[in-house]
Amino acid sequence: MTREAPVVLWFRRDLRLGDHAALLEASRHSRHVLALYVLDDALLKPGGAPRTAFLYGCLEKLNEQLGGRLMLVRGDPAVEVVRAARSVGAAAVHVSTDCGPYGRRRDASVAKALAENNIDWVETGSPYAVTPGRVTKPDGDPYRVFTPFHRAWTAHGWRAPADTGPSLVDWVEPPRSLKVPRPPRVDAELPEPGERAALDAWHAFLEDGAETYDTDRDRPDLSGTTRLSPYLRWGCVHPRTLLADLGDSAGAKSLRSELCWREFHADVLWHRPETARENYDRRFDGMEYDDDREAFDRWCAGRTGYPIVDAGMRQLLAEGWMHNRVRMVVASFLVKDLHQPWWLGARHFMKHLVDGDLASNQLNWQWVAGCGTDAAPYFRIFNPTTQGEKFDPDGDYVRRYVPELRSVAGKAVHTLKDRPEDYPAPMVDHAHERRVALERYGKL
Ligand SMILES: Cc1cc2nc3c(=O)[nH]c(=O)nc-3n(C[C@H](O)[C@H](O)[C@H](O)COP(=O)(O)OP(=O)(O)OC[C@H]3O[C@@H](n4cnc5c(N)ncnc54)[C@H](O)[C@@H]3O)c2cc1C
Repeated sequence: MTREAPVVLWFRRDLRLGDHAALLEASRHSRHVLALYVLDDALLKPGGAPRTAFLYGCLEKLNEQLGGRLMLVRGDPAVEVVRAARSVGAAAVHVSTDCGPYGRRRDASVAKALAENNIDWVETGSPYAVTPGRVTKPDGDPYRVFTPFHRAWTAHGWRAPADTGPSLVDWVEPPRSLKVPRPPRVDAELPEPGERAALDAWHAFLEDGAETYDTDRDRPDLSGTTRLSPYLRWGCVHPRTLLADLGDSAGAKSLRSELCWREFHADVLWHRPETARENYDRRFDGMEYDDDREAFDRWCAGRTGYPIVDAGMRQLLAEGWMHNRVRMVVASFLVKDLHQPWWLGARHFMKHLVDGDLASNQLNWQWVAGCGTDAAPYFRIFNPTTQGEKFDPDGDYVRRYVPELRSVAGKAVHTLKDRPEDYPAPMVDHAHERRVALERYGKL
C-alpha cells in the first residue's frame, strides 16, 4: 500500500480527534483519510431521544473539526462502509474496536464484506484504557469480582495518550454526504456536545473538583463529580486522557477506581454478552416479580412519595442524567420495594439517559438487584429515607427537583412529618416491602 492510497476512518464511539489510536494508525498507512460515520437504524431506533440528540450534536462538532469533511451515510454498515471505501478507492478501513454485543456482530459482517472487496479491516484501540478481554486471572478466566479486577487492571496499565489532532492527516473530501439530521425534540436540558466541551468540563473539574472528589462524589446536592459520562459514552474524550492527568491524591485514586468500574462492566459484558438481557446469576431466574404497571409508572414519573427517589427520577427527566448515588437508590426502590424486574428499570434508564451505555447500565442494574457479578448482596436493601438524610443532608437536592417540597426546610424534607397536600403519600411501606423482598429472596 502506498501512502497516497486513501484509507477510511470509520467513527463510532470515538467522536474526537485527540488521543485517537485508530487515527494514529490510519495516518501511518496513508496521509489521505476519509472520515466516515454511518447512521445505523439498528442502533438509533432503540436509543432514546436525549442520547440521539447528543449524538447528532457531537457529529456536528466533529464535522466542524474536520472542516466539513465528515462523510455521513445512512443504512446497513455492511453495505455502506464498503460503498464508501470503494467510492474513494480506499485500501483499508480503520476503526477503534467496538466491544458491545451488537458492535461485535456488526463488525464481523463489515470486515467480511470488506475482505470480499480486497479492502483491509484494521482495529486499533477501543473506548477503554484497557480493551475488554485483556485482563484475566492467571488461568485465563475472566474476573467476577471488582477488587481483584481493579488490581490486575492497574498492574496491566495503559498506553500514554496518542498524539493526534485534526491536522495529522489530509481529510479526503467526501464524494457525497448527508447533512447531520435535526435532533429529535428533547425536554431535558442536555450538556454541550463534542470534544471541546468534554475537555473543558474535564479541565474545569481538575481545577475545582478533583481535590474533593473523594469526599463529595456521593453527594447529589453538590457538583462533586466530573459529569463526563455522556462524553465517555460517545468517545468525545478517551479515558486514557483522563488517567494521564490524574496524580496520586485521594480524589485521583477514587476517580481512577470509578473509571475502572466502567472498564470492569465492559469486560463482564465482553465475556458474557447475554447479560445485557439476562441475569448474570442464573439463580435469580426464579425470582418472583409483581406485575404492576401503575406502580412502575409512578416510579418513572417521580411520584412515589419517597422524596429522594422522586428527586432522582425527575432529575433523569429534566437533565437526561442522574447522580450515581441516587441511581442506586431508585434502582433498589424499583426492584426491592416495588418488586419489579431490573430490566424494566434499565430500559427506562436507557430511554432517558444521555450517557445510556449498555455495559454500565445493565450491569449496574444487576449489581443493585443482586443478580450481577460482584453484586451488592440481595439483602442489602437501600432505605430511601436514611439514604436521603445521609447523602442529601440539608435536603437541597430534593428541593431542587421536587417543587412541591420547596417549602419544607432542611433535612425534614426526607421525613416529611407535615406532607404538603400536593405531594403524594408513600406508595408503599418500606419496612414491609423489605420483608417481602427478603422472603422472595429466601425462596430462590
Ligand atoms: C442503576 C445504574 C445505572 C447506571 N447506568 C449508567 C449508564 O447507562 N451509563 C454510564 O455511563 N454510567 C451508568 N451508571 C454509573 C454511574 O452512575 C455514572 O457513570 C455516573 O453517575 C456518571 O456521572 P459522572 O460522569 O459525573 O461520574 P464520575 O463520578 O465523575 O465518574 C467518572 C466516570 O467513571 C465512570 N463511572 C463512575 N461510576 C461508575 C459505575 N458505577 N459504573 C460504571 N462506570 C462508572 C463513568 O464513565 C463516569 O463518567 C449507572 C449506575 C447505576 C447505579
